[in-house]
Amino acid sequence: MNKCWKIAVIGSGPAGFYAAGELFRQKSWEIKVDMFERLPTPFGLVRGGVAPDHQKIKSVQKIYTRIAENENFRFFGNVEIGRDILKADLLEHYDAVIYSVGSPADRELGIPGEDLSGSHSATEFVAWYNGHPDFCDYKFDLSARNAFVIGIGNVALDVARILAKTHEELAKTDIADYALEALRASQLEDIWLVGRRGPLQAAFSPAELREFMELADADVLVKKNMLELDAESQQILEMDASNDTKKNIEILMQISKKSVSGKKRRVHFLFLTSPVEISGNKKVEKITLVRNQLVKRKDGSISKEEIRIEKGRIE
Ligand SMILES: Cc1cc2nc3c(=O)[nH]c(=O)nc-3n(C[C@H](O)[C@H](O)[C@H](O)COP(=O)(O)OP(=O)(O)OC[C@H]3O[C@@H](n4cnc5c(N)ncnc54)[C@H](O)[C@@H]3O)c2cc1C
Repeated sequence: MNKCWKIAVIGSGPAGFYAAGELFRQKSWEIKVDMFERLPTPFGLVRGGVAPDHQKIKSVQKIYTRIAENENFRFFGNVEIGRDILKADLLEHYDAVIYSVGSPADRELGIPGEDLSGSHSATEFVAWYNGHPDFCDYKFDLSARNAFVIGIGNVALDVARILAKTHEELAKTDIADYALEALRASQLEDIWLVGRRGPLQAAFSPAELREFMELADADVLVKKNMLELDAESQQILEMDASNDTKKNIEILMQISKKSVSGKKRRVHFLFLTSPVEISGNKKVEKITLVRNQLVKRKDGSISKEEIRIEKGRIE
């Protein structure tokens, strides 16, 4: 009879479950999988990252649950490898170890004032509103009128959308109860999404962008000058742009033509803009932004180059 392979999978996010699923799919050997997770609950960032109003995406958990139902699968929650169990222990008891522990670290902006109170990473805010046990005691001051979200990818759009939604919209999701209550008291009026490159280079997807046009009590604004493309970008749009990029530009154009209807909140898209300093007395009071321009690298790719600091100052 073939040997039975005992595999330890560390981490229960998508990578861990798909690895386990693939192992069970092959027919050559008998496989037993033990999955170790430092949290009491499985599914990694599908539970703690994906936005609570995106239940369709979260439904991927059903696939993972089916994998977990395999009789040769065991789940050990609340076990941190490196703290509760060491690598040497794993190697003694398993034929192979798969590390699928995700990427918990943030990339810092590297600008002065980033560590002031009131400046947070998306990891902290997202984990907080998703009820992640490591972050549920965090406090976010939602008494300010303006919030700046730095970066314009799908995670930034998630954060801006959660900040912009009404209590009634959020109450329909599986957002953590304490976050629902804290956001109910939010005084935010303007949410600024700040992207260092142009609309053509934005990393969000059209579906996420379109959701901003459907917010119950928030207008979305893009100034027409934010969508003006230089000759190089115009050529890329016409010749090489992906369908998603073309759709993004179409939607942004539609948004730029919409008139503001006087809703309680506004979400602003700023392209070709970077923060250079966050300042204030012990807490965030001011952010200094600069305008960028795109330049073509020698290899043909487009990068951003800061063109002016003082002139483009927005405080
Ligand atoms: C805010 C946000 C929104 C997102 N939205 C989407 C989306 O809409 N659609 C989409 O496709 N993707 C989305 N993603 C990306 C997606 O969540 C990740 O690509 C995916 O979860 C990565 O899977 P992973 O298994 O590599 O890591 P993770 O999901 O991070 O899982 C790693 C797991 O390992 C555990 N772990 C870490 N260290 C140890 C240890 N020492 N011992 C035991 N366990 C450990 C962690 O607790 C965690 O559960 C989003 C991500 C974020 C942050």
